[in-house]
Amino acid sequence: MSPSLPLLSTLRPPLAELLYQPHGPLTADLVRRPGGFGLGQVPAGRVPDATTGLVCGYCSTGCGLNVHLRGGEAVGLTPTTSYPVNLGMACPKGWEALAVLGAADRATVPLLKDDRGRQRPVSWDQALTAFCSRMKAIQRRHGPQAVAFLSTGQIATEEMAFLGALAKFGMGLLHGDGNTRQCMATAVVAYKQAFGFDAPPYTYADFEESDCMVLVGSNLCVAHPILWQRVCRNPHRPRIIVVDPRKTETAMAATEHVAIRPKTDLVLFYGLAHVLFREGWIDQAFIDAHTSGCEAFREHVAAYPPARVAAACGIEATAVERLARTIHASQRVSFWWTMGVNQSYEGVRTAQSLINLALLTGHIGRPGTGANSITGQCNAMGSRLFSNTTNLLGGHDFASAAHREKVASILGIDAAAIPDRPSWAYDQIIEGILQEKIKGLWVIATNPAHSWINQHMLRDVLSRLDFLVVQDMYHSTETAQLADLVLPAAGWGEKEGTFINSERRIGVIKRVVRAPGEALADFSIFKLIAEYWGCGRMFDRWTDPEAVFQLLKELSRGQPCDITGIADYAMLDAAGGIQWPFPEGTRAPRPPAATARETDGAAPDDDLRQRRLFADGRFYHPDGRARFLFDPPASMPEPPSDAFPLLLLTGRGTAAQWHTQTRTGKSSVLRKLASREVYVEINPADARRAQIKPNQRVIVQSQRGSVLAKAFVTHAVQPGQVFLPMHYETVNQLTLAHFDPHSRQPSYKDCAVRVYPAHQPEYVR
Ligand code: SF4
Repeated sequence: MSPSLPLLSTLRPPLAELLYQPHGPLTADLVRRPGGFGLGQVPAGRVPDATTGLVCGYCSTGCGLNVHLRGGEAVGLTPTTSYPVNLGMACPKGWEALAVLGAADRATVPLLKDDRGRQRPVSWDQALTAFCSRMKAIQRRHGPQAVAFLSTGQIATEEMAFLGALAKFGMGLLHGDGNTRQCMATAVVAYKQAFGFDAPPYTYADFEESDCMVLVGSNLCVAHPILWQRVCRNPHRPRIIVVDPRKTETAMAATEHVAIRPKTDLVLFYGLAHVLFREGWIDQAFIDAHTSGCEAFREHVAAYPPARVAAACGIEATAVERLARTIHASQRVSFWWTMGVNQSYEGVRTAQSLINLALLTGHIGRPGTGANSITGQCNAMGSRLFSNTTNLLGGHDFASAAHREKVASILGIDAAAIPDRPSWAYDQIIEGILQEKIKGLWVIATNPAHSWINQHMLRDVLSRLDFLVVQDMYHSTETAQLADLVLPAAGWGEKEGTFINSERRIGVIKRVVRAPGEALADFSIFKLIAEYWGCGRMFDRWTDPEAVFQLLKELSRGQPCDITGIADYAMLDAAGGIQWPFPEGTRAPRPPAATARETDGAAPDDDLRQRRLFADGRFYHPDGRARFLFDPPASMPEPPSDAFPLLLLTGRGTAAQWHTQTRTGKSSVLRKLASREVYVEINPADARRAQIKPNQRVIVQSQRGSVLAKAFVTHAVQPGQVFLPMHYETVNQLTLAHFDPHSRQPSYKDCAVRVYPAHQPEYVR
């Protein structure tokens, strides 16, 4: 013991009691006791009296979390060992999921702007009255379509469906979209056009079954860390090929990193198809039986020999040949993509170029195969089927009178209340505000003032609205601060419903924490708005999330996403989630914990718990065939120039950060795992040329704005490119608002910038 520290026994009692408190909260956190419920040791102050399972509320992986309860409230959590997604693992965000609920900036009461533009607390009655009177006044003056909504992939499926039905059938809105447009729209359109329905075909077991995985524009290690763990469990010594301009964490761990020039992936995959055709390394029987358009595709890719591809992509021609040979030599090849493909001005055709490769080689519908889009948000997949924005509820078509009749009869409403066309896309809604066609906007659980492309423009657009309503967990988001009305919402862990993960698995969320203050579940807010609006009768049967789940089941009947065989939430809970389709009569898997016990670990129901699509080779087009789809590559809208010589790439920073950090920024643990300061990755050659030293403050500037960042000099980015993590508020001041023409998804990952030391008054060429 240090001589400067007196023994406790020599201290006078008050001081000793202050320093040594055997029963205080800090002591209770240090002392561990058996937790029961198979939990091992837990802090003595947080020994639970019960546990319950729910799925995580951050990303589309959809991990199962076991929440420890005392007196019905959460006191801790651990990853669920028997959940078939994560098998007992969780990333830092999952471990910290409860910590962010108690943040000081939670929205706890409605806030309404007064005459002087200050947000003031008001009662729910005042808030809902203001919501309805202001929105109705806009509709009277400018037409019903002058009000729109922007929603999210973060709320429960039942809530999304309620919002979409309330807005379009009850309030008479036509336009509403979600932040899923920013991440998933490309995959949706690619699948719909190629397969006839938006249907990611895989199951997570495929990560462990492949002997060759091609990961494109996907930094799985960081963006989907638990899925990367599934890759690491693969016993087949798989070839892992990463196609990415950046040497990401995943590229570093890959068998082969194909470091192409940004946005040349479409050319690379046409070149690969060229070699596969040339060598006869195709599955002609599969092509003949299950696809259409292959001959036209063969003619198209004849123009992409390896030499041309190599020159365009900045790689060796032998790399193209080697890649084709690896695919040919493998038995179970899977193609995976995320935002590097989706967030592109030619994302749909690029995603389809991967689908084409899977079809060409017959690597689909079998274990370890598939053309597989990994989603982003926890319920992006729920949004794709049930948000009532682009699709009519349940994957139906607004333009089809038969579909409108079907939906109307299930919901007990007049079919005339259902619009006969889909919504404008997100960017068209923004454009509509600029053109003064949209005057009222309702934003739910998303933060466009941070996340939308070309941020300065977006904030200017939002300021032109007559009435901006933000419904969110936090009153401090960049968008909530601009709002005329803030509606305080409960978050994940404070309400009930279901999420659908990337592999189409429906999992349950539960209320394990009381929402703060007067915050209400989004479901309850929609119910109240329906009442105040005067269309409450239309939603008499929408009494609670589980009642709505029963309606969603009926809406799915006969669709590729049919879930009529799922009885209720209890069945989802017991089965460890259930993947769609699950029509009536499908045998339910037994609880994973039970089967694992009975069979000493090897669950006999694994074939029911892990279900992939297209095992029978039948796709969803009327003729049952998948389509080969292709176009010539497009030009980059804003390539580097003399004035802006570098290409800006954006992407995820760390596994501890989530999107705009609205939630992850509230956890002291997660904050320690990521840089607080914006940093820019720059190649040493470019840094030398611009006289930039490591860790120096620099200006990153595009034609639209400037960002102050710390220079991270690294070979992870190629010369001529820089990388900014997307999580920092300022990054989208730089990005260029351009979109894929088919999906209208923003192309976040390519605009021209220049970088120079911050102490320099201006950029010098
Ligand atoms: Fe949650 Fe995704 Fe992390 Fe799993 S990987 S714990 S779903 S954030």
